[in-house]
Amino acid sequence: MAKKLHPHALVIPCPYQGHINPTIHLALKLASKGFIITFINTQFIHSQITKAHSPSSGLENIFSKACESGLDIRYLTISDGFPLEFDRNMNSLPFLEGLINGFSNYVDKLVGELVKEDCVDPINCLIADTFFVWPSIIAKTYEIVHVSFFTEPALVFALYYHLDLLEENGHSGSHENRKDIVDYIPGVKSIKSSDLPSLYQNSVVHQLIYKAFQDVRKADIIIANTVQELEPETITSIQEKHKFYAIGPIVSANFTELTISSSLWSEHDCTQWLDAKPRGSVLYVSFGSVALVNKEDILELAHGLMLSEVNFIWVLRFNVLGQDEDDILPVGYKEKVKDRGLIVPWCNQTRVISHSAVGGFLSHCGWNSVVESIWCGVPLICSPLVTDQLANRKLVVYDWKVGINLRDEESITREEVRSKIKYLMNEETSNNLRKNVAQVKETFHNTLATNGSSNVNFNKFVEELKIKISLA
Ligand code: UDP
Repeated sequence: MAKKLHPHALVIPCPYQGHINPTIHLALKLASKGFIITFINTQFIHSQITKAHSPSSGLENIFSKACESGLDIRYLTISDGFPLEFDRNMNSLPFLEGLINGFSNYVDKLVGELVKEDCVDPINCLIADTFFVWPSIIAKTYEIVHVSFFTEPALVFALYYHLDLLEENGHSGSHENRKDIVDYIPGVKSIKSSDLPSLYQNSVVHQLIYKAFQDVRKADIIIANTVQELEPETITSIQEKHKFYAIGPIVSANFTELTISSSLWSEHDCTQWLDAKPRGSVLYVSFGSVALVNKEDILELAHGLMLSEVNFIWVLRFNVLGQDEDDILPVGYKEKVKDRGLIVPWCNQTRVISHSAVGGFLSHCGWNSVVESIWCGVPLICSPLVTDQLANRKLVVYDWKVGINLRDEESITREEVRSKIKYLMNEETSNNLRKNVAQVKETFHNTLATNGSSNVNFNKFVEELKIKISLA
């Protein structure tokens, strides 16, 4: 059994950009509270990060700068069960199946090694992403404390947690053509069925969510990247059953004082281009790190951006279509938009949207993108595609009113893109949105101040975790 002297957490994110980023910041913050951290990335993720930063950098520990500043963060990599050259994006479902069925063997073996009495500082706590299906089993085997980290909002947690209710009521399939309201989920007053997370109908994703949300019920503590004041009823409802702490917003350097480069692709530096643009004049466009966009939508978006006449930075990932295609933009597009548009394969998003030239964000509504945009006071145009992005849009557009919806129908048209961009980027028409986003931004910033709810929650979480570790 583990020694109980020093709190030592094994921290493990799901191997996706949107999960790795907040988990890194969480690890830094816990280390700054005196925890020893052993952070685990898969070998594939580590090789991506290393390649993205410099092909020959040989970066062994992505936390080396943090360690130099005195934090004790150890860094290990393990196999995800697939060879490095396996294309995880093109084969997303077999990869997910592997994460459900095989990955825990590698984690189990590692935890077994690190809890041994003869280790210098044996681990006594497992902090794992809520989307894993096995953490409570491993924590129980090795008698260590289990913290589940949910990187998304409480609304999404509640919906996944009550998947059985959605199924009973016929809301677990496709919602594309449904307009009815769901009002039976505890803590969620009402949500349109079109805002429910999609992909339940896919059996692998369904299995993953179902199993993960059975497993999370056994966690000792759950922490989530959300804010108490912004989702009060949903959070209270979850707290009736579980130790659940809202500790967000988790946004790079503002959550901790350190930044770690965790991009899986090389970042194009947009600073010079932005410096030359007037304040608030640039629309930033990105669909995150995983979601696939169909070619028709890309073309409508391209034309809409052109017709809108606003300045824009568009992150067009090389694999955004899910298939190899070199030139997906209309012929001569880049020449036509000239210096008005900068199209890049990847960038440092928080650096871009915190630049004063950026005045709007057309987003797929990945939760990190939503949080980062609000943190910077930038209103959104929402074009959600899959999973939690649809429910996140509800918070942005209908609850907090800090964004507008782009996609009312299944596909988007260039005229719709043009008019929504015009609306958002015009100071007069978007005046209310901008006031709202300034208010939610203030809530975000205040909540991390000394007496702010997330800061207080984080400290309570740390104290409770230390007690549980000492008792384990
Ligand atoms: N991101 C980035 N550069 C880009 C696009 C995205 O650094 O060009 C980061 C972004 O800041 C966010 C993460 O990638 O932290 C994407 O997470 P999100 O939850 O928004 O979307 P996901 O990729 O999970 O769908």
